[in-house]
Amino acid sequence: MASIPIPILKDETYTFEGFVSQADKQESDYLLLPFAVPDGIVRLDLRYEYSDETGAELWAPSGNVIDLGVFDSRGSEFITARGFRGTSGSFRHEFSIGLHEATPGYLAGPIHSGRWCIMLGLYRIVPRGCHYRAVVQMIHGESEPIPEVEPYDAGVLCSDTRWYKGDLHCHTHHSDASGTIGDLVQSARARGLDFLAVTDHNTISHLREFARYATADLLLIPGEEITTYYGHANVWGIEKWHDFRAGCAADMQRIIDEASRSGSLVSINHPKEEGPPWTFDPISGYDCIEAWQAYWFVNNYQSLAFWDERLRKGRRITIVGGSDCHMAAPDKDPSPVIIGAPTTWVYATELSVNGILDGIRAGHVFVNSNPDDGPRVYLAAVCGDVRAVAGDDLRVPRGTEVKFSIKVTGAGGMMLRFVAAQGELALVGIEDDNFTYGYALKVNDTNYLRVEVIAPPEADLKTEPAALWVEALSNPIYLRIAS
Ligand SMILES: [Zn+2]
Ligand SMILES: [Zn+2]
Repeated sequence: MASIPIPILKDETYTFEGFVSQADKQESDYLLLPFAVPDGIVRLDLRYEYSDETGAELWAPSGNVIDLGVFDSRGSEFITARGFRGTSGSFRHEFSIGLHEATPGYLAGPIHSGRWCIMLGLYRIVPRGCHYRAVVQMIHGESEPIPEVEPYDAGVLCSDTRWYKGDLHCHTHHSDASGTIGDLVQSARARGLDFLAVTDHNTISHLREFARYATADLLLIPGEEITTYYGHANVWGIEKWHDFRAGCAADMQRIIDEASRSGSLVSINHPKEEGPPWTFDPISGYDCIEAWQAYWFVNNYQSLAFWDERLRKGRRITIVGGSDCHMAAPDKDPSPVIIGAPTTWVYATELSVNGILDGIRAGHVFVNSNPDDGPRVYLAAVCGDVRAVAGDDLRVPRGTEVKFSIKVTGAGGMMLRFVAAQGELALVGIEDDNFTYGYALKVNDTNYLRVEVIAPPEADLKTEPAALWVEALSNPIYLRIAS
């Protein structure tokens, strides 16, 4: 185990100097450096530096990447820690936590006395290892009672049962983007979205700003992107921080189970090359897969294959989309991906956090390229007097022929592709912008049927799956054999 340096205390300042090797990372991805906070402290300032620093991007040159975070004296243990006070990944070299204000990514509030811990996340360590230095400065002052922060309650923005459109994945300066919640809200409203899940990496400090930026026409969904070194997952509808320090599948399973238990919805994000990919296996209990992240051409055919592989095993997982927009501040270069690319459409009984999450849970969802003129696809099936739409189970006696009807708008000249457990079943031309099509399938076994609106393929998709260009993607109707 990495030796924990004894901090040197001088003038209310602790200095840690240490070294970590690849063997230390092998043992644990996270190193905790404890220090004692006396009574009467009203602010902590912390800064760190390390050798051979490089960027956290997948394409960054070789070097070290160490993430930063801090836990207070209420505890730092995995999953159950109550002392989480924030993280900034490798995005910032310093932060402050005060009674009323904190650096984005960190949580203001009482500076409890006792044993605090700096968290160093050993993301990448080069063979020759890494020297680090961290300095904590404690500022004394007059303490005062600080009220508890109540979870944000968005309420019900609209009580109509209808399709609502939104984006489920984006970032602000509370993690590794430069824009604020205000910049995001402005952008999402300009796109005409109904809902927006803000999913900063590994923290919840952004949720404290929701009340300040909330508007009557845009539902803000509280989220966190659980960002591990082995894959990312979104949790939506959260009321508290969820741990991200998973080093193996069993750890990740505990995080997912805990999120589900607390009523949140869990999605595996961008399971594709450079997503970064999802490498935890086996994992169960998650609700969704982000099969479309950013623009379609960014390897999303791989995420779609990841989803199909699980559907073929009879699993029931809703596909969703997310731009993963890292919102830029107005004075910075714009983000390469805009909010609403792609857009997730949810059929819900009301525009509220529970309404949207229940609609997603039910699978009443399709994803398309944009909220304005992107094609829309509606899948339904009828069997006797039973009707099903995308996301529903349809139970029929073995050998029954099920009749599907598909409505597609805004996609004249494109193609409609039918996919089931056995792969592509049919590919038909979409004649005009208001297109309906009937399709029949005999159900001999557990199966599913889903549809894609695609550009006419330039190669055989069986041999060249990367040639798939999707404009809209429906969830399946799950076909089950009635016993
Ligand atoms: Zn991610
Ligand atoms: Zn993200």
